[in-house]
Amino acid sequence: MRIVVCVKQTVAGDINPFDACAYEAALQIPESEIILLSMGPEKTYEFLVNLTRLGAKEAYLLCDRAFAGADTLATAYTLSLAVKKLAPDLVICGRQTIDGDTGQTGPSLAMTAGLSLITNVMQIKQTEGQLCCVTRDRGEQYVNYPALITVERMNRLRLPSIRSKRGKVIRWNAQELGADTKKCGIKGSPTKVLASFANEDGKRKCRFVDTSMLDALIEEGVQKEKERTEQGAERLPEKKLKKVWIVGGKCKQMAQNISDDIRVIDREAAESMGQSFIRWFVSMVEKEQPAAILWDSDFWSKQTAPQVAALLRTGLCADCTALETDGEHLYMYRPAFSGNVIAKISCAARPQMATIRTPADGAADIICAFGKGAKNVQPLLEAYVQRKNSEKGPRWEIAASRAAVDAEMLPYEMQVGLTGRSVNPPVYLAVGISGAVHHIEGMKQAGTVIAVNPDRKAPIFEYADYGILAAAEEIFS
Ligand SMILES: Cc1cc2nc3c(=O)[nH]c(=O)nc-3n(C[C@H](O)[C@H](O)[C@H](O)COP(=O)(O)OP(=O)(O)OC[C@H]3O[C@@H](n4cnc5c(N)ncnc54)[C@H](O)[C@@H]3O)c2cc1C
Repeated sequence: MRIVVCVKQTVAGDINPFDACAYEAALQIPESEIILLSMGPEKTYEFLVNLTRLGAKEAYLLCDRAFAGADTLATAYTLSLAVKKLAPDLVICGRQTIDGDTGQTGPSLAMTAGLSLITNVMQIKQTEGQLCCVTRDRGEQYVNYPALITVERMNRLRLPSIRSKRGKVIRWNAQELGADTKKCGIKGSPTKVLASFANEDGKRKCRFVDTSMLDALIEEGVQKEKERTEQGAERLPEKKLKKVWIVGGKCKQMAQNISDDIRVIDREAAESMGQSFIRWFVSMVEKEQPAAILWDSDFWSKQTAPQVAALLRTGLCADCTALETDGEHLYMYRPAFSGNVIAKISCAARPQMATIRTPADGAADIICAFGKGAKNVQPLLEAYVQRKNSEKGPRWEIAASRAAVDAEMLPYEMQVGLTGRSVNPPVYLAVGISGAVHHIEGMKQAGTVIAVNPDRKAPIFEYADYGILAAAEEIFS
């Protein structure tokens, strides 16, 4: 099988972590011929040379000044030209890059290159005949070749052996690719970053309390949530957008802040149409020309919206946390660079499209998240949660930090954060979690946050309403 693996070099010089999983997945497919593909500056050449030592036959570097400054639409266009030339059976991409964080390039590339698509792959189950993959959220999915898959953190990339040989790296510029330079790089990118700010989102004033108050605080947090009414917009715009469509209902609140003229597309009905939804929806949009389209940010929407954007040749801003408008333009705010900054983004093309960061569905009242610091008390903490659930009171659920997942305490599906799930339970109890920005990104919308950590300087306390300065062993043993 001929496989193209898309890889991006991070600012730090390493392979993007999800792309490392994509490469390893390709290496594990028997009798595969692997070709690496990267769009990047000249320094990417050496990076690719080193990567070929793991087993890729060759690598292609798409390198041209015309490619610089590309958003996901322009990136997918440029990559699609190379994919069409290389004519693989399968393209494997990482779920997202850690700098852009959008998760849009894979689905957009699939649409532009005419490949069938499976996103969020946890395991490749069958490659003979049809391709079958186990996904993170939708069980087993079957598609025909040629196909593109995006992979989760499903494995670890092997290390090169001393005897490994380097493969060939070939450069392709815009002319060699036959690219229309108006569709590449900054010229071909409808989305523009207008400004960026330090991300203070999710910061709270922490009150340090005694261990004995834990039960009362949890009860109070659950109660408070019951009384909480839907929060409206803090600043409503003077002029609103006309004709805003929303796909799914979770983003309705945000849509109402920017428009009084909203049409809701039923999410379930859309999904039940399968792949035919995309062409149908695109033809509706072309006919009725809404000013903006907002999508929930569940798995289906994050797979579908980039394909729609690719066909409409418009921009798509991923995981927006706030919106503004002047009556004509939509200004979209989203976390970038692992949540360290908030970027303000506009879109020159129409319709203006965004996925809206909406927490995953979940009925738990209290999420008890285990960090690496909870390792010693894990069985006790699990028993504690089980006991609470047997009491028929509020429902508890367990989650994990990435360090806890990496330490094999809990499975990846339970990871909360930038590269895991987003949650917003009434109460989030963080035990032994340091509070890295990557983790905060997934839990900052929780109602009441209570952190247990013996280190007063742990950043988690900046994002907690209540702090308990104690080792987990002192509370849960
Ligand atoms: C691109 C990228 C994406 C990432 N995505 C995510 C993500 O989605 N989710 C995520 O969580 N992380 C993510 N991370 C990792 C993140 O940066 C942190 O490394 C991770 O969140 C740390 O997990 P932790 O807090 O459990 O462990 P640590 O940072 O090791 O912290 C452990 C904490 O436990 C405390 N502790 C020690 N002993 C005890 C004890 N006995 N009782 C109580 N507390 C104790 C310590 O004081 C410390 O604060 C990502 C990183 C990168 C680079």
